[in-house]
Amino acid sequence: MSTDDIVKAYPHAAILTGAGDVVTAFNDPALLLFPYLKAQDPLSFAIRDPEILTAVGETGRDGQLRKLEILERLPVERAFAVSVASVRSGGILLVFDDQTASRNLERMRVDFVANASHELRTPLASLLGFVETLKGSARNDAKARDTFLGIMETQARRMARLIDDLLSLSRIELNAHVRPTAMVDLETVLRQMTDAMKPLAEERRVELSIQTEVRRPTVMGDRDELLRVFENLIENAIKYGQSGGRVDIRLEEGLPGQLIASVRDYGPGVRPEHLPRLTERFYRVDVAASRDAGGTGLGLAIVKHIVARHRGRLEIESKPGEGSTFRIILRCAEPAPAAGAG
Ligand code: ADP
Repeated sequence: MSTDDIVKAYPHAAILTGAGDVVTAFNDPALLLFPYLKAQDPLSFAIRDPEILTAVGETGRDGQLRKLEILERLPVERAFAVSVASVRSGGILLVFDDQTASRNLERMRVDFVANASHELRTPLASLLGFVETLKGSARNDAKARDTFLGIMETQARRMARLIDDLLSLSRIELNAHVRPTAMVDLETVLRQMTDAMKPLAEERRVELSIQTEVRRPTVMGDRDELLRVFENLIENAIKYGQSGGRVDIRLEEGLPGQLIASVRDYGPGVRPEHLPRLTERFYRVDVAASRDAGGTGLGLAIVKHIVARHRGRLEIESKPGEGSTFRIILRCAEPAPAAGAG
């Protein structure tokens, strides 16, 4: 194997230079990072970062291995661990280990803990406030006591719901790589959830309709998780699309081997700039409206994770003023081979 082949086989971006810091070999990931890389050109034509170039010069002189952390801000923020090593042929090998994903993950984790704590602290502060009032000025005021206890109950329920959602999210994430294997009748799941949502729909004066037109409604999945998906979608459609007065639930066949389950409302819809962010944890278009509706901001994040675990797809289509359609696309379960076939 030549040194060129070794460089090409590297999973990370790698560049090899020869005498006079001329590029002698590089691989595809390196070309993605440094589009101006060209064999026989000086390294500095492709790499501008002075820190890297200085390290290459120093390693060329003393033969010592150098490790750098490079943070690029433009066009998008990226972080690399770069190692600069001298090789026996006299050249320098540069290897770029992209750490952007793990750094982003770390940041998401920090944000998530901060958001979750904030979401819990707000109702908790209100609970403590009312406890103080009940112990003090409202001690002997029966009417105020009833009002305050009602509010306290709402806040406590909200905290409980938030904790339930957080726990389901982490349970789903824990199993993200395990594909569910039970045979689930999607039509039954949809009908069951539609029935369960009837009281909420009636209370909000929303007409729920369900239409299914598939021959084989079976998918490989986790029944409880799929129920959660449609619970969230139908509940959202009723809550946020209430003004449309109608929610349509539908199961149909898509491309061969695909089932499409959709929940459509005729409410205010969602402006396009919010669409890509709807499934982020704690993202809400209107925080106050979501809180009033008893939302945690985690429903669609849970939906997204369940669908991903089922190797399915979630599509959201919405036009302001015309309502929204949330579509779940799943693969049909393979039919059991008919006896005697073959
Ligand atoms: P929650 O409902 O608890 O706030 P979700 O993750 O279920 O959290 O939804 C996130 C946000 O997406 C909601 O706060 C709302 O702003 C928006 N949204 C979800 N479904 C709809 C819908 N059918 N119509 C309009 N907006 C919606």
